[in-house]
Amino acid sequence: MTDVEGKRHVVAVIGAGPAGIYAARKLAEAGHVVVLLNRDIKPGGLAEYGIFFDKEKMKEGLRKQFKRILSDPKVFYFGHVTVGQGKAVALEELQRIGFSAIVVSAGAQGTKKLGIPGEDCLSVYHAKDVVYHYNKLPPFSQRPYEVGRRVAIIGMGNVMVDVANWLLNYKKVSEVTVVARRGPKEKAYDDSEFEVVEQYLDNEDMRREIQRIAPRLEVVGQNVEEILKTFVKETVPPADCKLRFRYLCSPHQVIADNQGKVAALEVEVNDLVLDGERTVAKGTGQLSRIDLDCVIYAIGDQVDSAIGLPFSRGAFVTSPDKLPGDPSPSLYQPYDPGTGKVLEGLYLVGWSRNASVGLVGVAKKDAETGMKVVNNYLASKEGFASAVIDQKIATLVNKLEANKASFVTKQDIELLEAVEKEEARKRETWEYKFSTDEEMLTVISAKREQPLQVAVANGPVGKS
Ligand SMILES: Cc1cc2nc3c(=O)[nH]c(=O)nc-3n(C[C@H](O)[C@H](O)[C@H](O)COP(=O)(O)OP(=O)(O)OC[C@H]3O[C@@H](n4cnc5c(N)ncnc54)[C@H](O)[C@@H]3O)c2cc1C
Repeated sequence: MTDVEGKRHVVAVIGAGPAGIYAARKLAEAGHVVVLLNRDIKPGGLAEYGIFFDKEKMKEGLRKQFKRILSDPKVFYFGHVTVGQGKAVALEELQRIGFSAIVVSAGAQGTKKLGIPGEDCLSVYHAKDVVYHYNKLPPFSQRPYEVGRRVAIIGMGNVMVDVANWLLNYKKVSEVTVVARRGPKEKAYDDSEFEVVEQYLDNEDMRREIQRIAPRLEVVGQNVEEILKTFVKETVPPADCKLRFRYLCSPHQVIADNQGKVAALEVEVNDLVLDGERTVAKGTGQLSRIDLDCVIYAIGDQVDSAIGLPFSRGAFVTSPDKLPGDPSPSLYQPYDPGTGKVLEGLYLVGWSRNASVGLVGVAKKDAETGMKVVNNYLASKEGFASAVIDQKIATLVNKLEANKASFVTKQDIELLEAVEKEEARKRETWEYKFSTDEEMLTVISAKREQPLQVAVANGPVGKS
């Protein structure tokens, strides 16, 4: 522990998803004060608003862990605070307050597109937005997602499975078609995850589809008999609700009807070619049409450039060179290609460092490794007396108030959770979530026994 007067640091962590919260734990364990700034009212990020809503055990387990970490008196939580230019607080404003370091763990909030004609037409959606919608994250919770009867999902990972689960088991659409650039063997979803939608698999269609692409699979040495055995099951899907796959197809254009809504997806048929050990899709120029009502992109996301860090091709820029140290700080630090230098005191972890890669365990490990770098950096710097740290937090509170940000604290989250738990009990469901910020803020301010204040070591700060 470096819990010694004058050696303690205060670190701002932007984003309280798994990466930010596990980072906060490592920083607090080293004796530092952590200020978590989170866009959403509630903490948890995609653990709260991404993981499928019926995974009760997993979600409750993570919530408990997060609550324990946030309960550390050295960890301050400011929810409903978006960091960015023109938002609740700008990155430069945080830098001016003089945090010892700033960790960006804001996930991958930018939307990735394919750049094909027609993709901006009505009823083309991005999986992240749909997932936020059914997990009740404002404002997505309030937006209508008109999916119709026939939906194509682009992409073949676990997020595709979650979206198909929602469409087939909850929206009761009649047809979900998964469109994948490569073949069945290149699937990126886990078989255990797929079980929730397997009953809808149109096995006759799957057999025809594999036979259609068989010559292209054989060219790259894939065993078609084995693939048929693995992917064609004995089960018969319900007549009015089917899941199909269109392999070796890349989206070419979205065709709209005369009201500007999705009518079809035109795809280009691909060959498979070998690139070393890897199989790669290569367009043949041959086009084919799938009639549809909705297209959902489940192709991963990109980071949000509005946070204000150097950005290129969907990611924050990091140094092309490894810096001395194990782990190398350059893997975790944003880098300015203009000056050729890493940005001192700024760090990236989780999906902000590596967009849409891995489960919660991966984000946790990334945060923990990243905090080794941050804690090494902090150990090399003079820290602050606790009165100075209090002053920095007070300056942040004043800034948020001046910017008219209606932020909430971890005590507020406990008040909100108690009310939601009581609602769930009344409705005999395992959880109940308010689905607008207004409702959550109203509940919180009604339950607060005194005006909002943030309790720092030497007394409360904020409106009194
Ligand atoms: C659909 C889906 C299903 C998944 N299911 C599972 C599963 O079943 N099991 C599993 O282990 N993993 C699952 N994952 C993966 C897991 O959710 C991620 O690995 C993990 O959440 C990434 O953590 P993160 O903290 O980097 O980002 P996020 O979880 O995205 O957290 C980012 C946080 O930053 C905040 N934020 C964003 N922008 C700003 C800003 N400008 N200012 C301040 N705060 C900001 C957000 O409010 C959010 O709280 C799933 C992911 C998705 C997309």
